[in-house]
Amino acid sequence: MCQRASALYLGASSTYISRAMHGFSYRNGSLYCEDVELAALAGEYGTPLYVYSAATILDHYRRLDTALAGVDHEVAYAVKANSNLAVLRLLAVEGAGFDIVSGGELFRVIQAGGDPAHCTFAGVGKTRREIVYALEQGIYSFNVESEEELRYINEVAGELAVIAPVAVRVNPNVDAKTHKYISTGKSENKFGVDITDIAGLYARASKELPNIRLRGLQMHIGSQLTSIAPFIEAVDKVAPLARQLKECHGIEFWSIGGGIGIIYKEALASGSAHWWENQAEPERPLTIEQYGAELVPRLKDLGLKILVEPGRFIVGNAGVLLTRCLYAKQGAAKTFRIVDAGMNDLIRPALYEGHHEIVPLLQPATDARIVMDVVGPICESGDFFCQNRELPDFKPGDYIALMSAGAYGFAMASNYNSRPLPAEVLVDGATACVVRQRQSLRDLIAGEC
Ligand SMILES: *Cc1c(COP(=O)(O)O)cnc(C)c1O
Repeated sequence: MCQRASALYLGASSTYISRAMHGFSYRNGSLYCEDVELAALAGEYGTPLYVYSAATILDHYRRLDTALAGVDHEVAYAVKANSNLAVLRLLAVEGAGFDIVSGGELFRVIQAGGDPAHCTFAGVGKTRREIVYALEQGIYSFNVESEEELRYINEVAGELAVIAPVAVRVNPNVDAKTHKYISTGKSENKFGVDITDIAGLYARASKELPNIRLRGLQMHIGSQLTSIAPFIEAVDKVAPLARQLKECHGIEFWSIGGGIGIIYKEALASGSAHWWENQAEPERPLTIEQYGAELVPRLKDLGLKILVEPGRFIVGNAGVLLTRCLYAKQGAAKTFRIVDAGMNDLIRPALYEGHHEIVPLLQPATDARIVMDVVGPICESGDFFCQNRELPDFKPGDYIALMSAGAYGFAMASNYNSRPLPAEVLVDGATACVVRQRQSLRDLIAGEC
């Protein structure tokens, strides 16, 4: 279900592409994703609607790949951020590996043409069925989160008469300085094995667990890190251990995890090729070039293959959620705009106090702004996209975009309040494809009786 944009859009696009890879910008007062007008997509496919920019996804992947060029490495995209098959296929064709957290994600990667031999399987609660499936498919490594899990994988591999490749996730006890719900590298988090216990665990495993191969070491200290310091601290803290495990156990890789933060504020700041590079932007502490420049010298002499597991960085700024205003409501204390997307479609504001810029698809004629709450239709007071924010006024029938919704957006969407899941569209140049149909009412009750 693909369509080419009209010749009018194509005509307007020629200077745009050469200027920047930045996926979303206004042209003649109308917001575009690459060469496709978003208001046209909203009209054609309805709202709420997720729209992704293929060029932006690939640009992010390539920039990270380039930033790590000085060291033997692989970019393993964290599937959980956005697991649409078309997004996975785009990255598989580009040569990405994949970091998965469930058997379902492995199935998706395989369906999208990804290679299980380039998949790492993370997560604290892998089930027997998932372990068996991953062994059958020949994944690159299980990233193991406890000794109990390591012993269980050894047992299952023994039953199947195969050797399971594993890496243990080290918890380096570093403060990622991010939201508490997405911090994972402190001792009090449920993730990984304490750094002081790792060497002993590898020694025991190599003696007692014949059906596993100690292939690597893994860590991941948190998500949406907006400063380089915690990455440096974690790498410096764990590097001697990685070196030691290579010498003693012949491990071949070290995954330093994902977590590279993105700019959520002022997503349409003008004048920068990539909005997260806007120098004036206060939320812009970390660039991908800085990430590479600081970490590559610390990693390149280890003689290990370095994996990174970015999710948000690849897809976050590459997606928007389009929604339409249903009602303008003047409450006793507040001004509300009620839109047709809800927290079931995009839960980040409710779950993590996540910020999404809100912009109209058609630029208003004046600069006038009013203070409002933009809320959804769900029966929860947490169902808001912003509170007390100064925004250009918009009215029932107008479309707005929630920016930077490409990561942990659709992937966390649910049917709460019996709302069908929104459709997803992938834009590539002047082509827009529906890569997931909007759910029907029938879909809502499929499997029930
Ligand atoms: C979620 C997760 C990632 C990706 O995190 P981002 O912040 O999206 O880059 C990487 N590795 C592991 C183990 C994860 O759980």
